[in-house]
Amino acid sequence: MAGAMASTEPDGVMDKIRAYDRELALLKHGTALLQWDQETYMPSAAAEERAEQLGLFETLVHDRVASDELGDLLARAGAGPDSPSGAETLSGLEQALVRHLYREHALARRVPRELVGRLARAASAGQVAWKAAREHDDFEAFTPSLEGLLALSIERAECLGYSEHRYDALLDQYEPYTRTAEVRRVFEELERELVPLAAEIAQAPQVDSAFLYGEYPESRQAEFATRVLEDIGWPADRGRLDCSAHPFTIGLGRDDVRITARYDRNFFNTGFFSILHEAGHGLYELGFEEQIRGSTLADGASLGIHESQSRFWENLVGRSRGFWRRYYPRVRELFPKTLEGVDEERFYCGVNEVKPSLIRVEADEVTYCLHIIMRFRLELALVENSLTVKDLPDAWHEESCRLLGIVPERDADGVLQDVHWAMGGFGYFPTYALGNLYAAQFTETFEREHGALESYLERGEFEPVLGWLQERLHRHGAAKPADELVNSVTGAPLTADAYMRYLRAKFRDIYLTA
Ligand code: ZN
Repeated sequence: MAGAMASTEPDGVMDKIRAYDRELALLKHGTALLQWDQETYMPSAAAEERAEQLGLFETLVHDRVASDELGDLLARAGAGPDSPSGAETLSGLEQALVRHLYREHALARRVPRELVGRLARAASAGQVAWKAAREHDDFEAFTPSLEGLLALSIERAECLGYSEHRYDALLDQYEPYTRTAEVRRVFEELERELVPLAAEIAQAPQVDSAFLYGEYPESRQAEFATRVLEDIGWPADRGRLDCSAHPFTIGLGRDDVRITARYDRNFFNTGFFSILHEAGHGLYELGFEEQIRGSTLADGASLGIHESQSRFWENLVGRSRGFWRRYYPRVRELFPKTLEGVDEERFYCGVNEVKPSLIRVEADEVTYCLHIIMRFRLELALVENSLTVKDLPDAWHEESCRLLGIVPERDADGVLQDVHWAMGGFGYFPTYALGNLYAAQFTETFEREHGALESYLERGEFEPVLGWLQERLHRHGAAKPADELVNSVTGAPLTADAYMRYLRAKFRDIYLTA
């Protein structure tokens, strides 16, 4: 491909940049291994020193990204405020690498090291305070920490800079080049459509899901999940599946991606759908093309694009009729008592039950984005200073009532349920909803080009599906920004249309055609 051609730059500066970048990638992967171990096998007494180790590694990464040495190399390659991709004589892939590093470098330089340290300490103390507050259902005890984290995040946003909205600077950390106004427009569109659809479903006869809460021995769940992972193309020699309290995916190298699961013996969905979700993230990380593997471009285009891959496998594949037509007989064999008398159709409807709930991570496909819209509106108001932390629980109740029609009795089931704000992660939440939207828009394109996804799933033909994702999305990694990627793959910018078409067709069929 053209992007892999050698550049014409004279003094070998691109070789130096590539070598510098490679060391940065190695350092990041070393840090990631410490994190993976911390969440899986580390003995609990090691926690304190591990935090110290991680702190040191993260500082080393930050210093290397912000260094004068990298700044000089990038300048020699022609990078500057008006030419973030460097000299025009560079190849396409070299320009992508320069742009990626120049962006990271510029952002790291804008935030004083002292503020990075204060934020890291506040985030670490914030998580401790949040855990205790959630346990005791005591939002007031968490107020000072949250106020501190909000103030520091605003300070950070001011350092990073923005042209339209302060929230842009925070959002940009997770969804590069995406603006607040764009998210607001898409979410308003989504809200207008989702609220009436959820209401329509609530009026319809409900589906049965009681059998999903029966006995599901963990070893059998693992057996089933491993079989499905193998079928969909998870390469056992390049990845691992382990257990952890909160499932996650982490890349440790060119040929090493780890995913984790948590099984619930009395609820089928917890284990299986989160494994498919993490496998979706993992397959993305394993699909980068040869030229970028092992570099810092071997990363997601954005968190939203990353989430689109997990949601694709979890929902568009894993909660489809075609998928269960193929796999339900196997599941019934593995859990014969629990699923006695439950046919394939009942099982399919059960795993797709729509029911407004208080907890985001348990939400169904129809109401999930409403949880995100609510958090987006609230954190936007906090960052704009039009809402105070003290008034946050009341505002949460109002939004929850308006969007979901239910309110939490305890803050532990409401404003205290997620860890993100306790880590200073303002600007993160929208990426979850964007992931759903991207996934639906990508799927429509796949179907336009190759026919119904369901028929591939029903036949167990996963290779053409994964192959399409790899060719069109995965291989580019962070070399193409999210907006460019969605435009080039689907021929249009991101909207909520494809997602709404998908939801309406699927859930009217389940709930409204009886
Ligand atoms: Zn995810």
